Order: sequence, then C-alpha cells, then structure tokens
Amino acid sequence: MGRSFRVVILGGGTAAGYAALEFVKNDINPGELCIISEESVAPYERPALSKGFLLPEGSARLPSFHTCVGSGQERQLPKWYKDHGIELILDTRVVAADVKNRTLRTASQETIAYKILIIATGARVLRLEEFGIKGSLAPNICYLRSIQDAEKLVQATAACKSVGGKAVVIGGGYIGMECAAALVSNRIPVTMVFPESHCMARLFTPEIAAFYEDYYQKRGVTFNKGTVLSSFERNKEGKVEAVVLKDGSRLSADLVVVGVGIRPNVSLFEGQLTLEKGGIKVNGKMQTSNSSVYAVGDVAAFPLKMYGDMRKLEHVDHARKSAAHAVQAVLHPEKTADYDYMPYFYSRVFTLSWQFFGDNVGACILFGVQRTGKFGAYWVNKGRLVGTFLEGGSKDEYAALARVARDRPEVADIDLLATQGLEFAVNHVSVEPVITGPSSSLKRSKQDGIMVLQTSGPLVQAATGIAVAAAIAGLVYWYRRRRKPVRLFWLA
Ligand SMILES: Cc1cc2nc3c(=O)[nH]c(=O)nc-3n(C[C@H](O)[C@H](O)[C@H](O)COP(=O)(O)OP(=O)(O)OC[C@H]3O[C@@H](n4cnc5c(N)ncnc54)[C@H](O)[C@@H]3O)c2cc1C
Repeated sequence: MGRSFRVVILGGGTAAGYAALEFVKNDINPGELCIISEESVAPYERPALSKGFLLPEGSARLPSFHTCVGSGQERQLPKWYKDHGIELILDTRVVAADVKNRTLRTASQETIAYKILIIATGARVLRLEEFGIKGSLAPNICYLRSIQDAEKLVQATAACKSVGGKAVVIGGGYIGMECAAALVSNRIPVTMVFPESHCMARLFTPEIAAFYEDYYQKRGVTFNKGTVLSSFERNKEGKVEAVVLKDGSRLSADLVVVGVGIRPNVSLFEGQLTLEKGGIKVNGKMQTSNSSVYAVGDVAAFPLKMYGDMRKLEHVDHARKSAAHAVQAVLHPEKTADYDYMPYFYSRVFTLSWQFFGDNVGACILFGVQRTGKFGAYWVNKGRLVGTFLEGGSKDEYAALARVARDRPEVADIDLLATQGLEFAVNHVSVEPVITGPSSSLKRSKQDGIMVLQTSGPLVQAATGIAVAAAIAGLVYWYRRRRKPVRLFWLA
C-alpha cells in the first residue's frame, strides 16, 4: 500500500485547480489533499491553449495561465501547492480504481487510498480512427486537448509557415473555429471541412453562423461544408500531403488540425458508478452513486436545476463552479444547497468575442446589426426567454444578458423583444416583466445581413409601459454596475 489521503482529486486540469483553491479557502489541513494528474504541469486554464497559446506574437506560455487566473483569482504555481501542503502527483496515470475499497492504482503500481475521491478526469479527444480513418499519428496531424498537443500544434504551425504551406481543419465546432482563426493569424491559408451546413451547428443558427463565416472568409478561411474526410495521401515519411473528402474533392495540406469532438474519461469507473449521458451521474451535491465519490467538470452528468433535466456540459465555467461546489459539499454537507447552474459559454477569436447564457431552444430572435459587429439573439421557449447570445458586448451588457437568461421572464410579444434588442436585457429588473404589445404577426425581413423579427402594428401602448419600467430599471442597473466586481478573462 502506498500513500493515503483524506481527499484525492483524480485529474489535474481546470476543475482540479479550482477545487484545490476552494479547499485552501476553507482551510484544509496540510497533507490531507492530493491531486493526481497524468499531465506534467500543475493545473492550468485549458481554454488558453486555443487562444493565447497559438498567437503568432506575444503568445501565452506557462506559468502565465495556471489556474485560477482565468477568473481573476490566484495563479497557483507548483510552489503554491507545496506551501499549502497539497501533494501534486504529476506525470502519473491512474490505471485502476476500486470504489468499494477506496483505492486508486497508478501506472507505476502505487496504490493510493482516499476517504473522499473527486473525479476530475475531464474528456479526451475523439480520434479519426474511431471514424474508421487511419493514420492520425502523422507528425503533421494535430489534435488539441493538452499542453503537449498545443506544443505539437505550435511546432507544426511553424513548419507549415516556413514552407508557405496550407492547412486543413477538420470540424466546425469550438476547436475547429478557434484553431482556424489562430492559423490564419499565423498567415496560413485554411480550409475548414465539416458535415453540417454551417459552423458551430450545436449553438449557432444559420444567421449567426453567417456572420462568423463571412468574417473568417475575409481573413483567408475557405469553408468546405456538407462533407467529411475520407482518407489521407501521405509521402514516404508518413507526412500528410493531401486530404481526400467524401464528396471526391482533394485538398493539398501541409498541416491538418482535427477537432471532431470529445468523450468524457469515465472508463475507470464503468461498472462501479452510475453513468448517464456518457458521463458520471451526480446529484446536486456533485456526489456520484457512491457517497464517497464526487465528479466535477466535463466528466459529470448533473441535474440542471433551472431546466429540470440532466446535462453534461463541457465548458470551463461549469468546470470551475462545479469544482467549487463539490468542495463545499464535501466540507459542509449540511449547509450546501443543490448546484444551481446556468449554462454559460464563450469564445474569442481575432478581435471578436461572444458570450452565450442559458438554453438555445425554441424560437431564435436576432437583434442588432451584424455589419457593426455588435448583434445578438434571444431564444424564447414556451413563452419564456431562455437563452441569450451577444457578439461584441461590454462587461455590463453580458452581465445583463446573464441576468435575464437566469430570470427567464415571460415574453408575451416576441416582436417587441426583437425591436428592443439589447435594451430588453439591459432594462430588465429581476421582477418578471411581461412585455405587452400588438399580437404577434411575425414578418421576417433582411437587415444588414441578419434576419430580424419585425412588428407589424402600433407599439405605443407597450412602449409607454416599458418606458416607465425602463426608467426604474435603468437606475437599478446603474446601481448594480457600480457594485459589480471586475473579473479577468484575459487568457482563458
Ligand atoms: C483547446 C481548448 C479550448 C477551450 N476553450 C474553451 C472556451 O473558450 N470556453 C469554454 O467554456 N470552454 C472551453 N474549453 C473547455 C474547457 O477547457 C473544459 O470544459 C475544462 O477544461 C474542463 O475541465 P476538467 O477539469 O473537467 O477537465 P480537464 O481540464 O480536461 O482536466 C482533466 C485532467 O484529468 C487528467 N486525467 C484524465 N484521466 C486521468 C487518469 N486516468 N489519470 C491521471 N490523470 C488523468 C487529464 O490529464 C487532465 O489533467 C476548451 C477546451 C480546450 C481543450
């Protein structure tokens, strides 16, 4: 038998870093906590890998983005863990877990015992082999999950640039979009290939996607949509020279970046803990089917209280908050209420920046003017506003969008919502406003490249009521703005 700890965090990624900070804030005793990670560095803000890390100039490197700088808190260097008596066991893969006997076994055959286990194993990338395509270990094919992946991508980018080469990005989601932006910023022409009809298909409507695709195209990205990769053509050294697509086309390539999805790392616990939606099922305390074991971040399938269903969210805000919540539940079980999370995602590419809050279900109402780079969307489902999206907003505007998505006010007239646009969120006070107005007759019109829902009748009655509410709300909003603490999202 090897070492033994009161609490073991399995995984050393973003959630692990935030969990460690929460333990320290709550005065855990030296020697009680350990983090086991197969990575060779202390926990860091993973989103930086596809943003600051890939920049051609002034790129971010560790130790600048160790957790928890992404939320404007302490930067936890290895010394920080030492100073707080937290054992950081790096370069160590756990190969077996025995939940009944509360032990983990590492690749070097050490058995580590725990009283409480927090699973923070995150997710792994889906490899092309899982889609029946061979050879993804080629030196110029890159995935992006870990810092080693990011280092390989930086080297491959430099090699591609040095021969004036081209890149192909497979996948039109987060990773594909952020990597394509980084590659063209490095002056490498990029072709993006994905099966959907537009980018970011899980979140964006075609109208929202059109803005980003247009922006990317103007910066050297070509879109090859509605098809998938079929095979690679290689040279004698095994390097990819071209990709062949299902539609028969062939794209020459000096670099290929693959971002085709992820899977939560649950395999150690299959048959021992209850799984759901591909993740480890937890309750509102982030506690699994075994009461000594918690799961947080990308690996957890948790009850989303707001919507009354189970979700698995693979985003950094949830990783940070679920980690802190689990620690509270471990230390103060009686005082910890159920996790009450509102989904929040963001991305930053080029000089663009968007944030999304809530749920993207129901009718999507666009507002703003795409040409100016500031536009957004509301999602209205069953008469309530449930989701908000904004490109190019200020900190206060995003805070307003978060508030309204959390409150889910009734929307009696979505025409009026379209007309008010961002003002609706900014003027929203947390007492359910009911928008009244002419009955909805939805007329779509094209304005500056985006579709907006337009009203067709007089708005006077509604506007009067809203003007009064807006005046009061404006005061409340101004007061809240003054009290809002500053949060830094500079890298992550
Ligand atoms: C490149 C990139 C960019 C991103 N950008 C954004 C963004 O802009 N916005 C956003 O909301 N989200 C973003 N995300 C998602 C976000 O980073 C994740 O949701 C977050 O990192 C999840 O944290 P986690 O701790 O659950 O998992 P991870 O951070 O992945 O950490 C998991 C850890 O567990 C370790 N591990 C796994 N299995 C074992 C084992 N058997 N033994 C030992 N260690 C193990 C791993 O090595 C890793 O250290 C991005 C992700 C990536 C990869």
